[in-house]
Amino acid sequence: MLRVYKSISHDIYKAHNLIEYLVNEVWCKADKKQCKDKLNDELKALYEDQPWFQEQIIAIYKVCKSLTIQGKEDFKTAFAHNNRIEELCDGTITPIALNTLNKDLVKVVKPFFKELYTKFLGWKAIRETYGEKKTYYDELNLKNGFIDCPCCGYGDLKTIYSKGRSAFDHYLPQKHYPFSSTNFNNLVPICTTCNSDEKGEVDILKEGKPVYYPFAKTHPNIEVTVDVKSKALKKLIEPTNDLKSRITKSEIIVDFSVNDDKTESWDKIFDIKSRYFGKIANNRVGWFKSVDQQYKKYKGRINNYSVEDAFDDVIEDDSNEQLGFLKAPYLKSLKLNTHLVKAIGEVSGSSVIKD
Ligand SMILES: [Zn+2]
Repeated sequence: MLRVYKSISHDIYKAHNLIEYLVNEVWCKADKKQCKDKLNDELKALYEDQPWFQEQIIAIYKVCKSLTIQGKEDFKTAFAHNNRIEELCDGTITPIALNTLNKDLVKVVKPFFKELYTKFLGWKAIRETYGEKKTYYDELNLKNGFIDCPCCGYGDLKTIYSKGRSAFDHYLPQKHYPFSSTNFNNLVPICTTCNSDEKGEVDILKEGKPVYYPFAKTHPNIEVTVDVKSKALKKLIEPTNDLKSRITKSEIIVDFSVNDDKTESWDKIFDIKSRYFGKIANNRVGWFKSVDQQYKKYKGRINNYSVEDAFDDVIEDDSNEQLGFLKAPYLKSLKLNTHLVKAIGEVSGSSVIKD
């Protein structure tokens, strides 16, 4: 994550407590009594109101009844453990694999929790008590001041002015971590590319390395660094005309100011360096031209206005653009090339680098 969310206080976080109650006080205490008698008033109302919920509660209760005391204890422990999202991300605890639980139990709980996310939070009683997902989404992004994806730093996020909202990513994917499907510590708004195209259902903890927790209280300031290879200079400042002459990752090298396990995981899961490289490669000619134009515009108006000044002004002026965090290090790296700077100064025209 380039940035993380500051969590906000919202009742929607408490909706998950109901499910916790269902697991701990109903299913894990399954006995000869009817499951309905174990439900609290809130769950009982939903049980009466939602046929799907009732059916599922009964079916899972039935399986739980057949479990040993240990089997129930394992279920309870796994549920609690796999909901400790921050510690799982930090790597201070490791997740409990579903295949260590009773097979019949897994067969019924996995689909239940998956459907629960889409169904449960949309029910009127839940929305009235705990709030709407969209309201929480808007409040979270407003308080954080995010209009771009905090994960990649540039992907579009829907805002209060959009129709609907961007999807909540199940940071620990439901496929591997169904127990946290309604836990808002695990639900994070990020862009579609990060969520669906890059991460998908990959188990982000499978490498055993720590990953960024999206609601962490502290987060390092990650600067993107770019190293442009001088040899490719002509290619870099002119549009690519054919596939063969396209820019390669060894010509624009993207890196980060922070190099630790979490940053490495972030890059691996979301393919960040490659995507940043692509953005730079696509925009490089326009970015270069803006410096060239800046220089041409001001060299006659400001005494001793240098090519370096033009670079600095463009970098400063555009730092708040959506891709400013990539444009700045790219132009800084170009600026270091004395050959290029000299050529712009001499020609200040379109073809600044001679073969
Ligand atoms: Zn993104």
